[in-house]
Amino acid sequence: MYFIDLKTQYRALRGDINARIQAVLDHGQYILGPEVTEFEKRLAAYVNSGHCVSVASGTDALLIALMALGIGPGDEVITSPFTFVATAEVIALVGAKPVFVDVEADTANLNADLLDAAITPRTKAIIPVSLYGQPCDMDEISAIAAQRGNIAVIEDAAQSFGATYHGRKSGALSAIGCTSFFPSKPLGCYGDGGALFTDDAALAQAFTEIRVHGQSARYHHTRIGIAGRMDTLQCAILLAKLGRFDWEVARRIEIGERYAEAIRASGARAELLTVRPGRTSVWAQYTVLVENRDEVQQRLKQAGIPTAVHYPRPLHQQPAYAKLCEPTPLPVSEMLANRVISLPMSADLSDSHVEFVAAALANATK
Ligand SMILES: *Cc1c(COP(=O)(O)O)cnc(C)c1O
Repeated sequence: MYFIDLKTQYRALRGDINARIQAVLDHGQYILGPEVTEFEKRLAAYVNSGHCVSVASGTDALLIALMALGIGPGDEVITSPFTFVATAEVIALVGAKPVFVDVEADTANLNADLLDAAITPRTKAIIPVSLYGQPCDMDEISAIAAQRGNIAVIEDAAQSFGATYHGRKSGALSAIGCTSFFPSKPLGCYGDGGALFTDDAALAQAFTEIRVHGQSARYHHTRIGIAGRMDTLQCAILLAKLGRFDWEVARRIEIGERYAEAIRASGARAELLTVRPGRTSVWAQYTVLVENRDEVQQRLKQAGIPTAVHYPRPLHQQPAYAKLCEPTPLPVSEMLANRVISLPMSADLSDSHVEFVAAALANATK
Protein backbone atom coordinates (compact mmCIF):
# COMPACT_ATOMS: atom_id res chain seq x y z
CA MET A 1 0.00 0.00 0.00
CA TYR A 2 1.20 3.52 -0.80
CA PHE A 3 0.96 6.42 1.62
CA ILE A 4 0.06 8.53 -1.44
CA ASP A 5 -0.62 6.69 -4.70
CA LEU A 6 0.62 8.83 -7.58
CA LYS A 7 1.22 5.88 -9.92
CA THR A 8 -2.43 4.90 -10.40
CA GLN A 9 -3.24 8.55 -11.02
CA TYR A 10 -0.52 8.77 -13.69
CA ARG A 11 -1.75 5.58 -15.36
CA ALA A 12 -5.26 7.03 -15.58
CA LEU A 13 -3.99 10.25 -17.18
CA ARG A 14 -0.93 8.99 -19.06
CA GLY A 15 -2.15 9.90 -22.56
CA ASP A 16 -3.13 13.46 -21.64
CA ILE A 17 -0.07 14.14 -19.52
CA ASN A 18 2.35 12.79 -22.11
CA ALA A 19 0.68 14.81 -24.89
CA ARG A 20 0.82 17.99 -22.80
CA ILE A 21 4.52 17.45 -22.02
CA GLN A 22 5.27 16.70 -25.67
CA ALA A 23 3.58 19.95 -26.75
CA VAL A 24 5.91 21.94 -24.47
CA LEU A 25 8.97 20.07 -25.75
CA ASP A 26 7.85 20.92 -29.30
CA HIS A 27 7.32 24.66 -28.77
CA GLY A 28 10.25 25.02 -26.35
CA GLN A 29 8.95 27.96 -24.28
CA TYR A 30 10.00 26.49 -20.94
CA ILE A 31 9.65 29.69 -18.94
CA LEU A 32 6.32 31.59 -18.96
CA GLY A 33 5.13 29.68 -22.02
CA PRO A 34 1.49 29.59 -23.20
CA GLU A 35 0.52 26.80 -20.76
CA VAL A 36 1.30 29.13 -17.84
CA THR A 37 -1.37 31.64 -18.87
CA GLU A 38 -3.80 28.87 -19.82
CA PHE A 39 -3.31 27.24 -16.41
CA GLU A 40 -3.76 30.53 -14.52
CA LYS A 41 -7.03 31.23 -16.36
CA ARG A 42 -8.37 27.74 -15.64
CA LEU A 43 -7.42 28.00 -11.98
CA ALA A 44 -8.87 31.50 -11.46
CA ALA A 45 -12.15 30.22 -12.94
CA TYR A 46 -11.99 27.06 -10.80
CA VAL A 47 -11.73 28.90 -7.47
CA ASN A 48 -13.76 31.85 -8.76
CA SER A 49 -11.08 34.43 -8.08
CA GLY A 50 -10.35 37.54 -10.13
CA HIS A 51 -6.68 36.69 -10.60
CA CYS A 52 -4.39 33.68 -10.34
CA VAL A 53 -0.61 34.10 -10.45
CA SER A 54 1.37 30.86 -10.65
CA VAL A 55 4.72 30.73 -8.82
CA ALA A 56 7.59 28.34 -8.15
CA SER A 57 6.21 26.83 -4.92
CA GLY A 58 3.68 27.24 -2.15
CA THR A 59 6.44 28.78 -0.05
CA ASP A 60 7.12 31.39 -2.74
CA ALA A 61 3.39 32.14 -2.95
CA LEU A 62 3.34 33.00 0.78
CA LEU A 63 6.61 34.93 0.53
CA ILE A 64 5.39 36.93 -2.47
CA ALA A 65 2.13 37.74 -0.67
CA LEU A 66 4.06 39.27 2.25
CA MET A 67 6.47 41.10 -0.09
CA ALA A 68 3.57 42.54 -2.10
CA LEU A 69 1.98 43.84 1.11
CA GLY A 70 5.29 45.49 2.05
CA ILE A 71 5.53 43.58 5.34
CA GLY A 72 8.96 43.73 6.98
CA PRO A 73 10.97 44.55 10.11
CA GLY A 74 8.85 45.89 12.98
CA ASP A 75 5.71 44.16 11.70
CA GLU A 76 3.95 41.18 13.25
CA VAL A 77 2.19 38.41 11.38
CA ILE A 78 -0.14 36.03 13.22
CA THR A 79 -0.20 32.39 12.20
CA SER A 80 -0.64 28.84 13.48
CA PRO A 81 2.22 27.05 15.25
CA PHE A 82 0.78 23.75 14.06
CA THR A 83 1.65 23.81 10.37
CA PHE A 84 4.39 23.04 7.89
CA VAL A 85 7.35 25.30 8.63
CA ALA A 86 7.01 27.30 5.39
CA THR A 87 4.08 29.30 6.80
CA ALA A 88 6.23 30.88 9.52
CA GLU A 89 9.47 30.76 7.54
CA VAL A 90 8.29 33.40 5.07
CA ILE A 91 7.35 35.74 7.95
CA ALA A 92 10.91 35.48 9.30
CA LEU A 93 12.37 35.81 5.78
CA VAL A 94 10.81 39.25 5.26
CA GLY A 95 12.12 40.31 8.68
CA ALA A 96 8.74 40.37 10.44
CA LYS A 97 7.89 38.63 13.70
CA PRO A 98 5.78 35.46 13.69
CA VAL A 99 3.11 35.52 16.42
CA PHE A 100 1.68 32.08 17.09
CA VAL A 101 -1.96 31.63 18.07
CA ASP A 102 -3.15 28.21 19.20
CA VAL A 103 -5.45 25.96 17.17
CA GLU A 104 -8.79 24.20 17.75
CA ALA A 105 -8.46 20.66 19.11
CA ASP A 106 -11.12 19.21 16.81
CA THR A 107 -10.01 20.76 13.49
CA ALA A 108 -6.32 21.65 14.08
CA ASN A 109 -7.08 25.03 12.48
CA LEU A 110 -6.35 28.49 13.92
CA ASN A 111 -8.70 29.26 16.83
CA ALA A 112 -10.47 32.49 15.85
CA ASP A 113 -11.55 33.04 19.48
CA LEU A 114 -7.91 33.63 20.47
CA LEU A 115 -7.15 36.07 17.65
CA ASP A 116 -8.34 39.34 19.10
CA ALA A 117 -6.03 39.09 22.14
CA ALA A 118 -3.00 38.46 19.88
CA ILE A 119 -3.52 41.52 17.66
CA THR A 120 -1.34 44.57 18.37
CA PRO A 121 -0.83 47.86 16.49
CA ARG A 122 2.09 46.10 14.73
CA THR A 123 -0.07 43.27 13.35
CA LYS A 124 -0.06 43.58 9.56
CA ALA A 125 -1.36 40.20 8.46
CA ILE A 126 -2.90 36.93 9.62
CA ILE A 127 -2.05 33.67 7.86
CA PRO A 128 -4.66 31.04 8.81
CA VAL A 129 -3.66 27.57 7.59
CA SER A 130 -6.43 25.36 6.21
CA LEU A 131 -4.75 22.30 7.63
CA TYR A 132 -5.24 18.74 6.38
CA GLY A 133 -7.58 20.06 3.69
CA GLN A 134 -10.36 21.82 5.66
CA PRO A 135 -10.74 25.60 5.33
CA CYS A 136 -10.42 27.64 8.53
CA ASP A 137 -13.30 29.80 9.72
CA MET A 138 -12.25 32.37 7.13
CA ASP A 139 -15.26 34.71 7.41
CA GLU A 140 -14.85 34.97 11.17
CA ILE A 141 -11.09 35.57 10.85
CA SER A 142 -11.57 38.21 8.12
CA ALA A 143 -14.24 39.94 10.22
CA ILE A 144 -11.90 40.18 13.23
CA ALA A 145 -9.07 41.44 11.01
CA ALA A 146 -11.34 44.11 9.49
CA GLN A 147 -12.61 45.21 12.92
CA ARG A 148 -9.06 45.73 14.16
CA GLY A 149 -7.92 47.87 11.24
CA ASN A 150 -5.89 47.31 8.16
CA ILE A 151 -4.87 43.67 8.62
CA ALA A 152 -4.52 41.45 5.53
CA VAL A 153 -5.79 37.87 5.72
CA ILE A 154 -3.74 35.42 3.66
CA GLU A 155 -5.14 31.89 3.54
CA ASP A 156 -2.46 29.19 3.45
CA ALA A 157 -4.47 26.84 1.23
CA ALA A 158 -1.51 24.58 0.41
CA GLN A 159 -3.42 21.55 1.72
CA SER A 160 -6.98 22.60 0.97
CA PHE A 161 -7.09 23.28 -2.78
CA GLY A 162 -10.47 21.96 -3.96
CA ALA A 163 -12.16 22.21 -0.54
CA THR A 164 -15.16 24.48 0.05
CA TYR A 165 -16.37 26.85 2.74
CA HIS A 166 -20.09 27.70 2.50
CA GLY A 167 -19.98 26.90 -1.20
CA ARG A 168 -16.89 29.01 -1.96
CA LYS A 169 -13.56 27.46 -2.88
CA SER A 170 -10.52 27.50 -0.62
CA GLY A 171 -7.97 29.97 -1.99
CA ALA A 172 -10.68 32.56 -2.71
CA LEU A 173 -11.90 33.02 0.88
CA SER A 174 -9.91 36.13 1.86
CA ALA A 175 -7.90 39.03 0.41
CA ILE A 176 -5.13 36.65 -0.71
CA GLY A 177 -5.07 32.87 -1.04
CA CYS A 178 -1.88 30.85 -1.50
CA THR A 179 -1.62 27.23 -2.56
CA SER A 180 1.01 24.62 -3.40
CA PHE A 181 1.31 22.01 -6.14
CA PHE A 182 3.99 19.94 -4.40
CA PRO A 183 3.45 16.36 -5.65
CA SER A 184 1.73 15.14 -2.47
CA LYS A 185 -0.82 17.98 -2.28
CA PRO A 186 -4.42 17.47 -3.45
CA LEU A 187 -3.51 19.03 -6.82
CA GLY A 188 0.13 18.03 -7.24
CA CYS A 189 2.51 18.57 -10.16
CA TYR A 190 5.70 16.60 -10.90
CA GLY A 191 8.05 19.00 -9.15
CA ASP A 192 7.47 22.27 -7.34
CA GLY A 193 4.72 24.78 -8.02
CA GLY A 194 2.29 27.12 -6.33
CA ALA A 195 -0.19 29.92 -6.93
CA LEU A 196 -1.66 33.10 -5.46
CA PHE A 197 -5.27 34.19 -5.79
CA THR A 198 -6.74 37.64 -5.32
CA ASP A 199 -9.56 39.85 -6.57
CA ASP A 200 -7.35 42.93 -6.23
CA ALA A 201 -5.82 43.88 -9.59
CA ALA A 202 -3.01 45.95 -8.02
CA LEU A 203 -1.97 43.05 -5.79
CA ALA A 204 -2.08 40.64 -8.74
CA GLN A 205 0.18 43.02 -10.66
CA ALA A 206 2.60 43.11 -7.72
CA PHE A 207 2.65 39.26 -7.54
CA THR A 208 3.36 39.08 -11.28
CA GLU A 209 6.26 41.52 -10.99
CA ILE A 210 7.76 40.04 -7.81
CA ARG A 211 7.83 36.49 -9.22
CA VAL A 212 10.16 37.71 -11.97
CA HIS A 213 12.72 39.88 -10.19
CA GLY A 214 10.38 42.83 -9.67
CA GLN A 215 10.16 43.49 -13.41
CA SER A 216 7.28 45.53 -14.79
CA ALA A 217 8.83 45.30 -18.25
CA ARG A 218 11.93 43.48 -19.48
CA TYR A 219 14.96 44.78 -17.53
CA HIS A 220 12.85 47.47 -15.86
CA HIS A 221 12.84 46.69 -12.13
CA THR A 222 10.22 48.58 -10.17
CA ARG A 223 10.56 46.55 -6.94
CA ILE A 224 12.70 43.89 -5.28
CA GLY A 225 11.61 40.47 -6.47
CA ILE A 226 12.71 36.85 -6.66
CA ALA A 227 13.13 34.08 -9.24
CA GLY A 228 9.70 32.71 -8.47
CA ARG A 229 8.14 31.48 -11.70
CA MET A 230 6.37 28.16 -12.09
CA ASP A 231 7.78 26.44 -15.15
CA THR A 232 5.75 25.72 -18.26
CA LEU A 233 6.13 21.93 -17.99
CA GLN A 234 4.56 21.86 -14.53
CA CYS A 235 1.64 24.01 -15.70
CA ALA A 236 1.18 21.66 -18.66
CA ILE A 237 1.09 18.63 -16.36
CA LEU A 238 -1.51 20.25 -14.11
CA LEU A 239 -3.66 21.22 -17.12
CA ALA A 240 -3.86 17.50 -17.86
CA LYS A 241 -4.53 16.67 -14.21
CA LEU A 242 -7.41 19.17 -14.02
CA GLY A 243 -9.32 16.79 -16.29
CA ARG A 244 -9.71 14.40 -13.37
CA PHE A 245 -9.59 16.81 -10.45
CA ASP A 246 -13.34 17.14 -9.80
CA TRP A 247 -13.59 13.37 -9.57
CA GLU A 248 -10.56 13.27 -7.26
CA VAL A 249 -12.00 15.92 -4.93
CA ALA A 250 -15.32 14.06 -4.70
CA ARG A 251 -13.50 10.79 -4.08
CA ARG A 252 -11.29 12.34 -1.37
CA ILE A 253 -14.37 13.63 0.45
CA GLU A 254 -15.97 10.19 0.14
CA ILE A 255 -12.83 8.43 1.43
CA GLY A 256 -12.79 10.82 4.40
CA GLU A 257 -16.36 9.76 5.23
CA ARG A 258 -15.57 6.08 4.75
CA TYR A 259 -12.50 6.33 6.98
CA ALA A 260 -14.59 7.95 9.73
CA GLU A 261 -17.28 5.25 9.53
CA ALA A 262 -14.80 2.38 9.32
CA ILE A 263 -12.65 3.64 12.20
CA ARG A 264 -15.71 4.16 14.41
CA ALA A 265 -17.10 0.74 13.52
CA SER A 266 -13.71 -0.95 14.12
CA GLY A 267 -13.60 0.18 17.74
CA ALA A 268 -10.13 1.67 17.20
CA ARG A 269 -9.05 3.90 20.05
CA ALA A 270 -8.53 6.92 17.84
CA GLU A 271 -10.10 10.36 17.91
CA LEU A 272 -11.31 11.77 14.61
CA LEU A 273 -11.06 15.38 13.49
CA THR A 274 -14.31 17.22 12.80
CA VAL A 275 -15.37 18.72 9.51
CA ARG A 276 -17.44 21.74 10.48
CA PRO A 277 -20.91 22.34 8.98
CA GLY A 278 -20.78 24.19 5.67
CA ARG A 279 -17.26 23.01 4.90
CA THR A 280 -15.63 20.14 3.04
CA SER A 281 -12.17 18.73 3.56
CA VAL A 282 -10.12 17.34 0.68
CA TRP A 283 -8.01 15.45 3.24
CA ALA A 284 -4.54 16.31 2.01
CA GLN A 285 -3.75 14.09 4.98
CA TYR A 286 -6.21 11.79 6.69
CA THR A 287 -5.05 12.46 10.23
CA VAL A 288 -6.37 11.01 13.50
CA LEU A 289 -5.33 11.29 17.15
CA VAL A 290 -4.01 8.32 19.10
CA GLU A 291 -2.21 7.65 22.39
CA ASN A 292 1.27 6.08 22.29
CA ARG A 293 1.73 7.16 18.70
CA ASP A 294 5.20 5.71 18.14
CA GLU A 295 3.98 2.26 19.13
CA VAL A 296 0.86 2.55 16.97
CA GLN A 297 2.95 3.70 14.03
CA GLN A 298 5.32 0.74 14.49
CA ARG A 299 2.42 -1.74 14.63
CA LEU A 300 0.83 -0.29 11.50
CA LYS A 301 4.17 -0.53 9.73
CA GLN A 302 4.34 -4.21 10.66
CA ALA A 303 0.87 -4.63 9.13
CA GLY A 304 2.21 -3.13 5.89
CA ILE A 305 0.59 0.28 6.36
CA PRO A 306 2.75 3.37 5.80
CA THR A 307 1.92 6.38 7.98
CA ALA A 308 3.39 9.83 8.62
CA VAL A 309 3.28 12.50 11.30
CA HIS A 310 2.12 15.99 10.32
CA TYR A 311 3.65 17.53 12.46
CA PRO A 312 5.69 16.13 15.36
CA ARG A 313 6.76 19.44 16.85
CA PRO A 314 4.92 22.78 16.81
CA LEU A 315 6.88 25.71 15.42
CA HIS A 316 7.13 27.66 18.69
CA GLN A 317 9.20 24.73 19.99
CA GLN A 318 11.50 24.53 16.94
CA PRO A 319 14.98 25.89 17.71
CA ALA A 320 14.95 28.40 14.84
CA TYR A 321 11.53 29.83 15.81
CA ALA A 322 11.54 29.55 19.61
CA LYS A 323 13.95 32.48 19.74
CA LEU A 324 11.70 34.63 17.53
CA CYS A 325 8.50 34.33 19.54
CA GLU A 326 7.22 34.72 23.09
CA PRO A 327 7.73 31.61 25.28
CA THR A 328 3.97 31.16 25.76
CA PRO A 329 2.67 27.60 26.00
CA LEU A 330 0.30 26.63 23.18
CA PRO A 331 -1.27 23.54 24.75
CA VAL A 332 -3.57 22.41 21.95
CA SER A 333 -0.80 22.48 19.35
CA GLU A 334 1.49 20.64 21.75
CA MET A 335 -1.15 18.00 22.43
CA LEU A 336 -1.81 17.51 18.70
CA ALA A 337 1.90 17.27 17.90
CA ASN A 338 2.15 14.38 20.38
CA ARG A 339 -0.89 12.50 19.14
CA VAL A 340 -1.49 12.99 15.40
CA ILE A 341 -0.88 10.25 12.88
CA SER A 342 -1.70 10.42 9.16
CA LEU A 343 -3.04 7.33 7.40
CA PRO A 344 -2.70 6.45 3.69
CA MET A 345 -4.72 8.86 1.57
CA SER A 346 -5.21 9.54 -2.10
CA ALA A 347 -8.15 9.62 -4.49
CA ASP A 348 -7.11 6.16 -5.76
CA LEU A 349 -7.21 4.48 -2.35
CA SER A 350 -9.80 1.69 -2.59
CA ASP A 351 -12.68 1.15 -0.14
CA SER A 352 -11.19 -2.21 0.82
CA HIS A 353 -7.89 -0.55 1.71
CA VAL A 354 -9.80 1.92 3.90
CA GLU A 355 -11.43 -1.03 5.73
CA PHE A 356 -8.08 -2.77 6.04
CA VAL A 357 -6.41 0.31 7.54
CA ALA A 358 -9.27 0.83 10.00
CA ALA A 359 -9.07 -2.79 11.17
CA ALA A 360 -5.29 -2.53 11.55
CA LEU A 361 -5.70 0.70 13.51
CA ALA A 362 -8.11 -1.07 15.88
CA ASN A 363 -5.49 -3.78 16.41
CA ALA A 364 -2.67 -1.30 16.84
CA THR A 365 -4.55 0.75 19.46
CA LYS A 366 -5.82 -2.21 21.56
C1 LIG B 1 3.26 22.27 1.53
C2 LIG B 1 2.92 23.42 2.36
C3 LIG B 1 3.51 24.69 2.17
C4 LIG B 1 4.64 24.93 1.22
O1 LIG B 1 4.42 24.54 -0.10
P1 LIG B 1 5.67 24.16 -1.02
O2 LIG B 1 5.07 24.09 -2.38
O3 LIG B 1 6.19 22.85 -0.54
O4 LIG B 1 6.68 25.23 -0.91
C5 LIG B 1 3.08 25.74 2.95
N1 LIG B 1 2.14 25.58 3.88
C6 LIG B 1 1.55 24.38 4.11
C7 LIG B 1 0.50 24.28 5.15
C8 LIG B 1 1.95 23.26 3.38
O5 LIG B 1 1.38 22.07 3.62
